[in-house]
This record gives sequence, C-alpha cells and structure tokens, in this order.
Amino acid sequence: MQYVRHGPEYGHPESPQRLISIYEMLDNPDMSWKFAWIDARYATREELERVHRPSYIDYIAATAGKTMMLDPDTVATAETYDAARRAAGGFINAVDSVVSGETDNAFALVRPPGHHAQAAEAAGFCIFNNIAIGARHALARHRMKRVLIVDWDLHHGNGTQEAFYEDRQVLYFSAHQSPAYPGTGGLTEMGKGLGLGYTLNVPLIPGAGDALYVSLFRDILSPIALAFRPEIILVSAGFDNYVGDPLGAMEVTPEGFACMTRILLDLADQCCGGRLAATLEGGYNIQGLTKSVRAMLLELLGETRMTEETLIGMVAGTDEKASRVIGRVREQFEPYWPVLRNER
Ligand SMILES: [Zn+2]
Repeated sequence: MQYVRHGPEYGHPESPQRLISIYEMLDNPDMSWKFAWIDARYATREELERVHRPSYIDYIAATAGKTMMLDPDTVATAETYDAARRAAGGFINAVDSVVSGETDNAFALVRPPGHHAQAAEAAGFCIFNNIAIGARHALARHRMKRVLIVDWDLHHGNGTQEAFYEDRQVLYFSAHQSPAYPGTGGLTEMGKGLGLGYTLNVPLIPGAGDALYVSLFRDILSPIALAFRPEIILVSAGFDNYVGDPLGAMEVTPEGFACMTRILLDLADQCCGGRLAATLEGGYNIQGLTKSVRAMLLELLGETRMTEETLIGMVAGTDEKASRVIGRVREQFEPYWPVLRNER
C-alpha cells in the first residue's frame, strides 16, 4: 500500500503509523464487511495541473528515489511522489464513486494530506492539494457549478483557500484554531473579485470543543450551504482538533466528529442527493485519530445516527463565550449571506 510508504516511519507526527492504525481498525471483523473499497489510482498530470504549476509538479517528480526536505516540516522520501499523486487520484476516485452513485458517500483514507499545498509550494506535511484537485475535477469532469468544501482540520487550509480565492464556484468554509500554523484564515479573509464572500474562515480560540463546532455548523454553515445549494460536499477531514492531539489544543471528541458528519450528511441530502466525499488531512494522536475516523465512518454508513436530540444536547453546553463567537461570525458573514439574518 503506497500511502504508508511515504515519509519517515518514526520521529515525524505525520507518520505511516497513522494509516496503519486506521487500516487495522477497518480489518477488525466488526468493521471489515461493512464498507465497499474504492480502488485508488494515480492522478494524471492534467488533473494535478488544475491546481499546481507544471514546474512544481516536475520538482516533486524529481524527488522520486530521494529523501529531501521540501520545507521545514515537510519531507519527501523515495516514494513520496507516487504516494502523493495516488492520494490525489484516490480522492478523485472517491468523488467519481459518489457522483456515479456507486457509493452513497466516500472517505479517502490517504497520505500525504493536502490542504496546505499551494500552486507551487509544499507545506505543512502536504505535497499535492487533494481536496482542491478533487473539487476542480468535479467542476471540470462532472461539469458542476457549485462545490462546497468544509475543512474542519485544526489548521487553516491555506492552499485550498488560495486555489479558490477568486472563484465563486467553490465555497470554502474552514474552522480552525487560532493562533496556529500557518497563521492565515482570519475572519476578514473572505475571497476576492468574483469570489468575494465564497471563502469563509472561522478562527477559533484554543479550547473550542464539540458544542462550539456543532453550533457553528448548525447555525452558520447550514443556512449558508442551503442558500449556496452545492452539487457535492467535499470534506477536509482532519482530526488534529481531537481532544488529545499533540499538535492542537481543541477539545473535539469522536462523538463531536460524528455530529459534524451528520450535519453535513443532512445538508447533502437536502442539496445534492446525499453526495459527500471526504479526504483525510491531519490527526496525530494515533488512537484518537483511529477512534474519530471510526466514529465518522459509522455515521457515514448510517449505523450510528446522531439525532437532533444529540445535537441539541451538545449545543446545550455552549457557553456565553461561544455564543459571542457565533455572533461575531454571523455579523461578519451576513452582508454576503443575508440568509443568516433569518436565523437570528
Ligand atoms: Zn492540521
């Protein structure tokens, strides 16, 4: 399996062990028979070029067989180029599988992650921007006009934001810890030109937990998504906002991830026949990552069903500070998304 052949095995948080642990969980007899496997493939040069510069792709291709640092956090090892284009291709296949109706939804459990990768730059453990490549594929190949990307990774997806900053066909919504790497993703970064209002960033102070995320998804993201009417929902699913992650200080539990998944599935049901495809971003507490991925998969499957009561129960924990955050976000987004006015 190519995804585990990228990167040093030890001493780096984005290690092959992350996926090995997830695959072991999926091999378990209580899980293995429940899911359909979607084959992976290499993204083609044309697919990569929809997001990355040709010279950058050549630069990454030239790392094949070598070990070199691409930025202070990001290393290429002998098989990184192959793993990275397979991660992008794996996610494209997940998108195709959902669009064709072969599966109801899909989760690309791939490495390396992608959302920090920019047109001509590897960064933050990311080489090719899988989610952006998947979104461009949905626009180009499936002739979609509206794609929603939801990025709940601990970090702001600066690469994804860059890819669609002036584009209104892709609505990018990110909730992330602030301050944190990479330092972008302020509330006022809202897109440019035709894309103004189609980049939505919610920086959250350390310590945000299930209640705040669920309120944000329910009270801010949901009405906007319903107004936008995406033809597919793509998810940058990072789990470094898990309560015990070594890189983060957020407090999201596996149940919290399941709740966010449920909200997105309900939106997908209302907007686009349930079409949802997720791809793995961060998550460095291996046990927490595995538990959270499991909770998300069972929710995608419909085996657990987070109900309105569970959601309300979670939101009931929202304190005054959280309501202030939501209020401030609403104020910022309302001029671009008047639908938020009705939600008061
Ligand atoms: Zn992250």
